[in-house]
Amino acid sequence: MAILLAANLDAAERAQWLALLRGAMPDETLLDERGGGGASIDIAIVANPPHGALQGLPGLRLIQSLWAGVDSLLRDASVPTDIPLARMVDPAMNQAMAETALWAVLSLQRGFFELAEAQRAALWRTLRQRRADEVPVAVLGLGQMGRAVAERLSANGYPVTGWSTRADRDLASVLSAAEIVVNLLPLTPATTGIFNHDTFASMRRGASLVNLARGAHVVDADLLAALGRGQVSRAVLDVFDTEPLPADHAYWSHPRVTLLPHIAAQTDPRSAARIVAANIAAFRAGRSPQNLVDRKRGY
Ligand code: NAP
Repeated sequence: MAILLAANLDAAERAQWLALLRGAMPDETLLDERGGGGASIDIAIVANPPHGALQGLPGLRLIQSLWAGVDSLLRDASVPTDIPLARMVDPAMNQAMAETALWAVLSLQRGFFELAEAQRAALWRTLRQRRADEVPVAVLGLGQMGRAVAERLSANGYPVTGWSTRADRDLASVLSAAEIVVNLLPLTPATTGIFNHDTFASMRRGASLVNLARGAHVVDADLLAALGRGQVSRAVLDVFDTEPLPADHAYWSHPRVTLLPHIAAQTDPRSAARIVAANIAAFRAGRSPQNLVDRKRGY
């Protein structure tokens, strides 16, 4: 039995992952490439695996993703659909996501993005100070990330409303009550393009969008139009339909868009390698792996 690391990583990242995974699973054989060992491979650890990397592995029994979001894996028709797929769930990532969301919401509440612009124009400008309890926030998606974000924002005094498949309110009413909308939904057929002309129209005039989930949740042309009309006053975007964001994209120079390069919550190899090892140990012991993806739901 052997484990294959099928990942699109640069050389330094790959060396770090291999060292940490081997350290966490000293009794396992971890292959960096399948070579002639295809028949012995029963587990694949994946991170943006090259298309076709998981084909021709007759003994494959478990796919363990190093990333939390699995939408690109589910879209890859070469990834076998009959093998259990576990995703990364790590409290260290939830913590990082809560920090990013708090930074964005706090900056919007206190006008820190406007003040950064004022500095670039050498303008001494004061803004009316608002309290957190004056700024209602909607968090879409109440899973690992959304719950951690909602708890952190509540602890900072924001009135937070969450929304998920279990919500008893419709999306339009949740959006219309919020001044800041934080997106932490998974990308599925049901959520692709969920931020479009109609949803922006449901938002309060002048509300802001913080998208920390996936770029394809947002119809870019509709967001740019809503920003242009003032329906949306500002967007903080960590994720994009095409990454890296093309140099000529309108978001780069938009005065009311703040960009991050998909760093809201990175997988931390130090904790993640231990989590992978524990999941594989459970699987080897005949127990069900943790954090299995429901392929029908798409997350
Ligand atoms: P998760 O634990 O699977 O939670 C997903 C949440 O979304 C659940 O509350 C689920 O509702 C809700 N949901 C799913 N489909 C829905 C729908 N159609 N309508 C309403 N609610 C829906 O996922 P997670 O770990 O929190 O991660 C969320 C996403 O964050 C990932 O999929 C990934 O795309 C993104 N992410 C981004 C970064 C970054 O650095 N920017 C890092 C990690 C993850 P139920 O609770 O009712 O099932």
